[in-house]
This record gives sequence, structure tokens and C-alpha cells, in this order.
Amino acid sequence: MNQQNKSLTTNLEEIVNTLAETGDLPIEILHKIVFCSILKAGLLLYPASMQHKQELNKLIQTIPASYRGLVTGKLYLRALKLIKSFEKMIKDKYRAALLKEANLQYIQNYLRRSLGKVDKVAVLDCASIPEMVTFAAKFKSLNRHPIILTEVFLNPIGVTRFLTQQLRIFNQRTALSGYAQLLRETLNAKQHYKTSLIDLTVHEHGVSIERFLNSLNMQALFETIKDLTGLDSILITHDHGYDIVANDYGLYVIHGYKGECPINFSKIALFLAIS
Ligand SMILES: [Zn+2]
Repeated sequence: MNQQNKSLTTNLEEIVNTLAETGDLPIEILHKIVFCSILKAGLLLYPASMQHKQELNKLIQTIPASYRGLVTGKLYLRALKLIKSFEKMIKDKYRAALLKEANLQYIQNYLRRSLGKVDKVAVLDCASIPEMVTFAAKFKSLNRHPIILTEVFLNPIGVTRFLTQQLRIFNQRTALSGYAQLLRETLNAKQHYKTSLIDLTVHEHGVSIERFLNSLNMQALFETIKDLTGLDSILITHDHGYDIVANDYGLYVIHGYKGECPINFSKIALFLAIS
């Protein structure tokens, strides 16, 4: 396994552990804490203007005071490491002539090799690193065992069709539900689930980070996944993440953004296995 993936996974794991240590916080707050920590790190490295930093600070003020320290301390430092390792990985991999992590056949073989079988599969359109680590932490605090796999799916253009157009060679429908079906068959799962909730929120309310966080119903999404999982094992994954852009309009959430931006996670999809 290559060093870059390992360092990314280690950073993600540290974030999950820190979040899980906060105890039984409502998932919306947990999510906001990690979202703001990652964005704060992204704005520092970008580097962003005072206006953008102020917009984020306003949002941080809505986090309960006793947890605000995480966003400027422990989680922030971990988020800085995460973004640096993510950017290094993307840059180095894109230099290679063949991007094997962008190939579904490679991913299918990898998942079969590393997981063998799971009971359930959930595919969340446009889920991104903040949501995936929040789910992992929440499952961990419920005494489940979350593992973020070392390999990732890379989506160079950050849009669903980059993945779904590859489904043709597997004789699957070229829609995200076809991907969920493919993963179900690959891992001998009993059931699969696909939702567009996060993608719809990004498209409908993607104007500002505040509206995004206020409209995304993390609680409902988590309950759905938890009910689906029961006591069974599950693989949770996505097709791409989202980007956070800083421009004259402020900070907003989008995916497949072509320019430079503080958070460019639409290029990556994680595999989170819960046992
Ligand atoms: Zn979309």
C-alpha cells in the first residue's frame, strides 16, 4: 500500500477518534464541528481573505462554547494535516499516466480483496469527507467498529457521470443506483441503498456554507443508515465529494468546481466499512 494513501487514512482516523471522544453530541453539532475545522484549515492554506475568515468565524460562534476549542485546536491541527496529505496525494497521483484509482474495475477488485463480503451497501451521492468522518465517529461512539479503507475512488472531474458511465462495462444501469447494485453483487450483500439527499442539498442550498449546514438533515440521514445496518456490517461510500469555494459571493458549497478553491474534495470518495 502506498505511503500517501496511508497518511491520508491515518489523518482521517485521528479525526474520527477525536470526534468520537466528544461523547454523545447531537450529530448536527458533531458535523458542524468537523466541517468548520476542515474549512478553517482549508482557508489558512488557500490562503483566504479576511472576509471569508469572518464568514466562517460567524458560523463557529453557533457551535456550543465548550466545543469551539476543538475547531481552533486539536481538530484544526488534524485538519491541516489532512488537507496537506490530500493535496499531495492528488497532485502526485494525477502526475501518473494512468489513474488506477479512477477505474471501477480496479476498485471492484480492491473491495473484493479487502472486504470479501458485507451485509449491506449504502451509496450517498455527494457525501464528502466531513459527512463520512461524522458517520464513522457516530458509529464508533455506538461501539461499532468503523474502518476507512486505505484505497479511495478518485473522480478527476468531481461529478457523478464520471463514475456512472463506467457502469456500462458491468452491464449495470448508468445511474448511481447501478453502482450500489454493482457493489452489492461484488460484496455479496443482502441489501443496497442509494440516496441523493446531500447532492440535492448542495444543488438547492449550495449558495452559502450556513444554508448548506442548516438544510442538510444529518440526523435523518444517519438514522436511515443506522436502521438499514441494524447489527449487520455495511459499506458506506459515495461517488464524489464537494468543494468549498471562496470568491466575491463568499464561501459556498459546490461539486466539480474547476478553479482553485480552499476545499477540493469533489475529487475523492472514501470507503467506510462498519462492522
Ligand atoms: Zn450533483
